[in-house]
Amino acid sequence: MKNIKLINLLIFGMMLVTVLTETVTAQQNHVPGAAIHARGYAALKPEWKFTPYEFDRRSLGDDDILVEILYCGICHTDLHQVAEDWRKGTFPMVPGHEIVGLVKEVGKNVRNFKVGDHAGVGCLVNSCGKCESCLEDDEQYCPRAVWTYNSTDVDGSPTMGGYSNNIVVTERFAAKIPPEAPLEKVAPLLCAGITTYSPLQYNHVKQGDKVAVAGFGGLGHMAVQYAVAFGAEVTVFDITEEKRQAAAEMGAVKYVNVKNADELRGLENTFHLVISTIPTNYDVEMYLRMLKKDGIMVLLGMPPKDQAPILKTNALRGRRKIYGSLIGGLRETQEMMDFSVKNNIYPKVELIPIQKLDEAFQNIAAGKFPFRYVIDMQSLNGQ
Ligand code: NDP
Ligand code: ZN
Repeated sequence: MKNIKLINLLIFGMMLVTVLTETVTAQQNHVPGAAIHARGYAALKPEWKFTPYEFDRRSLGDDDILVEILYCGICHTDLHQVAEDWRKGTFPMVPGHEIVGLVKEVGKNVRNFKVGDHAGVGCLVNSCGKCESCLEDDEQYCPRAVWTYNSTDVDGSPTMGGYSNNIVVTERFAAKIPPEAPLEKVAPLLCAGITTYSPLQYNHVKQGDKVAVAGFGGLGHMAVQYAVAFGAEVTVFDITEEKRQAAAEMGAVKYVNVKNADELRGLENTFHLVISTIPTNYDVEMYLRMLKKDGIMVLLGMPPKDQAPILKTNALRGRRKIYGSLIGGLRETQEMMDFSVKNNIYPKVELIPIQKLDEAFQNIAAGKFPFRYVIDMQSLNGQ
């Protein structure tokens, strides 16, 4: 009798240990405090050439989540950063700031996410939390902002982006993605989406406003869709014939091929707002003259420093304004996410394996690809 009791107790004990162990492994795949290993693709020098690269991410802190990356968009900024178009870069560089994936682990203070949720990470992974910009939900203008890659993390290590299989991020810098949203199309919302949504909101674009979108690529085609959703009459400017049809399908009332002088006639004093996403040198004054009195031009494109357009100021005398805008804050990023999913506003994407990165960069630079490439991170397992 005593033996049977002892055996039962032993069996119960073993079952308890098994259950406990399984619970722990389900929630905690890593030794607490240990660095998290990551695999991705890096540029080893300022050249659009990528090679497989392994590195460690910081350990999971109490406020952090670990995200298994499923998709990452390729932004034109990635081309600029690798080419050192604006400043010297830190190499090896793992670019990518249009990141979506599955939450795999959460730190003990995390409230907003649980294991299994879908999360997105954009251009920003930290800020001081105390300055005027941070307190006004404009963390992107914090002087101590930490960018997702090619930046220095709070512990002094270089940040590494989303062309990889995972990322550790403080929950405050991650967006919640509604479970029904198609993840591969959500990825570009984290940069192209918020960068264009933000200035349209800031300028209170409304029904009947006349909005021009210059540069109809990754950012531009999101700007068109949001402006149309807000009720604006949208005119698109680009340098090719090939996107005319797509602009009409997205609801633009007019498409102007800038290379065709005839199409540029008669547009002076027309627009309330011009949004420029052009990534290279161009004639800013031409667009300023198209603004109505009190019209506003927003510069989103960030050409290389040796190709920065020259601003001829005479056109500003018509009480026209011009300013630059950078992505959007975390609160607004979540708002943009929810708005996009609710209204079915997504980028046009083409999925590529990570092994095709070099070719994708060349195609974007040559204007051979219309909207957004998104890397399918499953391809990392196929190498
Ligand atoms: P894309 O390459 O996807 O799109 C740029 C578009 O501009 C292309 O359609 C291109 O045409 C078109 N274009 C080029 N020259 C002209 C011209 N002279 N007139 C009209 N259209 C032109 O780039 P992204 O949309 O990803 O990025 C655009 C820019 O925005 C980049 O400089 C990027 O760094 C910047 N950016 C800024 C952010 C911010 O927060 N302010 C955030 C993210 C990006 P074609 O394809 O035929 O060459
Ligand atoms: Zn970007």
